[in-house]
Amino acid sequence: MALGTYTIQNIGRSTYMLIKAKNILVSKRSRYQWIEVVDTEEFGRVLILDGLVQSSEADEFYYHESLVHPAMVLHPDPRKVLILGGGEGATLREVLKHSTVEKAVMVDIDEEVVGISREYLGSWHSGAFDDPRTRIVIEDGKTFVERLDEEFDVIVMDLTDPYGPEIARALYKEDFVRRLHEVLTESGVLSTQAGASFFYPSEYRELRESLERFFRSVDPFSVWVPSFGYSCNFIVASKGPGLGELSEGEIDGRLKARGVRTKFINGKVLKALLAIPEFYKYGLSGY
Ligand code: SAM
Repeated sequence: MALGTYTIQNIGRSTYMLIKAKNILVSKRSRYQWIEVVDTEEFGRVLILDGLVQSSEADEFYYHESLVHPAMVLHPDPRKVLILGGGEGATLREVLKHSTVEKAVMVDIDEEVVGISREYLGSWHSGAFDDPRTRIVIEDGKTFVERLDEEFDVIVMDLTDPYGPEIARALYKEDFVRRLHEVLTESGVLSTQAGASFFYPSEYRELRESLERFFRSVDPFSVWVPSFGYSCNFIVASKGPGLGELSEGEIDGRLKARGVRTKFINGKVLKALLAIPEFYKYGLSGY
């Protein structure tokens, strides 16, 4: 929420980060959420929805590369990719870097976030909205997936947090995870952001346990994102092998073979991210 020249990032239920805004470019309510775009000193331009930083110009690649490339490299030949949410277009940009991709469908509920991103967040989408392989659908991701009659190789959930605005909550529930498993191809892979497990352990645990119920391999990891003020959780769930079964060389080899240039993820970094603390192996419970 913009407060004069400051904007507040809601990190936990009672923990906040104050960011000085040089300039407020957008501050309006859409049908679904409060949308803000502000310019800041350290993070550059920032998109905020309902008081939660979605991504910043300075570090959006930490988040978007971590969300997209682990899942994409895990799949041996990802041709059809579905993105749920992803308003800024940066997830789409990273997906389209893989030369194997023939079709990328992005389903976001909020036309205004997509329109504002198109206008104000050019370095995020970098033309991805206009790529011939792209199809943009403005609809609730849950409704879209429920009536889907085709399968996808990779699904990326780039939604607002499980504890964020009401609109995304149903997409993190067990029934929907079951449906996502159904619409993935045989060696299908799902990737989701999972918010701040330190501050919202029960929401994180519920999602991780649902994924573990349906998928053969589940790989959790987290990445410190400076503009979030916390280490952001990600989970990659696969019907086939997990990330632990891919070598550093195979990860780099697949990125290179598909012409993917990255600023954050490579084989060594991804393998290091998979080295998680003891308590975390048990999904924050049962320890
Ligand atoms: N990095 C992010 C974060 O920290 O939460 C997510 C970024 S992205 C902007 C989130 C997008 O999810 C928004 O554009 C929002 O409109 C979309 N969204 C939320 N609920 C949705 C739903 N039920 N179906 C489709 N899109 C949804």
